[in-house]
Amino acid sequence: MSSIGASTQTHRARWVVPVESPPIPGGCVVFRGETLIGVGPPIDSDQAVVDWGDAVIVPGFVNAHSHLEFSGLAAPLGHAGMSFPDWILTVLEYRRAPEFDAAAAVVAGFSESIAAGTTTLGDIASCVPLLPFDRPPEALDLVSFVELIGLAAPRGAGQLERLNDVLARAERAGVRHGIGPHAPYTVRPELFEAAVAASAARRKPLAFHLAESPEELQLLATADGKLVDYMRTLGAWDDTAVPRGTRPLDYLRRLAHAHRALVIHGNYLAADEIEFLAAQRESMATVYCPRTHAYFNHAPHPLPKLLAAGAAVALGTDGRCTNPDLSLLAEMRHVAQAFPQLDPHRILQLGTLDGAQALGVAAETGSLVAGKRADFVVLQLGSPEPDPVAAVLSEPPRIAAVYHRGRRTV
Ligand SMILES: [Zn+2]
Repeated sequence: MSSIGASTQTHRARWVVPVESPPIPGGCVVFRGETLIGVGPPIDSDQAVVDWGDAVIVPGFVNAHSHLEFSGLAAPLGHAGMSFPDWILTVLEYRRAPEFDAAAAVVAGFSESIAAGTTTLGDIASCVPLLPFDRPPEALDLVSFVELIGLAAPRGAGQLERLNDVLARAERAGVRHGIGPHAPYTVRPELFEAAVAASAARRKPLAFHLAESPEELQLLATADGKLVDYMRTLGAWDDTAVPRGTRPLDYLRRLAHAHRALVIHGNYLAADEIEFLAAQRESMATVYCPRTHAYFNHAPHPLPKLLAAGAAVALGTDGRCTNPDLSLLAEMRHVAQAFPQLDPHRILQLGTLDGAQALGVAAETGSLVAGKRADFVVLQLGSPEPDPVAAVLSEPPRIAAVYHRGRRTV
């Protein structure tokens, strides 16, 4: 968009954290229109300066995975520590309930995300794939993944036709979009292949839930267990769909052919799978959903192993069906507590630049660098911590302001 005639603004704070470079004490963020034109040390300016005082300016948060259709929930479904297949049944019940209003929930989810400092959001559009394309949010950049589900052959074919329709509509509406084949236990391998091919041909990102639960690994390996039982009860299981002896690695190898792939969860990735993801770091990222992971009492997430191997990792809130809110800052705080050995600066990068990279928008946002969008969050500092990033990850969130494309939204 043109910035000719747009006014220039300079914002100053005790700290500016560009993420791609070290924190700047007393730093300034300068933007014209929606674009950053300078980020650096204090400058002499004849322009008025907005001084945020005892605050930290960080890039706008990037939530790489959500299901906003569940944003109407006051509390997660089921109870903490329940098994994944049991939880899926609560989701199906909730979706069938008369009070379920997916369209209203998506709109509420946009508002909640904006208030929490999210400026870029990857969302799975399932029940209401058309809603974001009719009314895309103004104060948030959205990447809407059109969900595909179909393990049995006839349903799978119908899903492909639907995909083409929805993608064409998204294109017309100007909403950035991707393709979201759901998971190995709900998507027939042929449909998965078609989704990967569509991602490559259309140059769109693809999101796929993978290695999420032990029951999923058992389903892939031996075609039995609780998840298979549950699929049978629903009449959604096809014994011929997934070859026995399949591993997440088999899917990862195929995903490497997508334009860009987001591996959602990856809670149970094995060592060779982590190695594979590290080798494909330019186009494949694992999206860790910290509080959702904790909700199911899973084994510890392989996050430290992924990072040590050099694999790309982003963070997501997932939906309110497994999480009490949509705050990415709360996710980063959870990571800081769960993995105290990790550098807080690295954690902030996961929730900003690495999320943008995973969604394929790192050239536009995710860090405070001249030329990128003026997407930033002003966080008030409570305690006089010497390290501003450690401070914002150890205190409750105090968001003073949010700017998206140079416009104040909070
Ligand atoms: Zn999900």
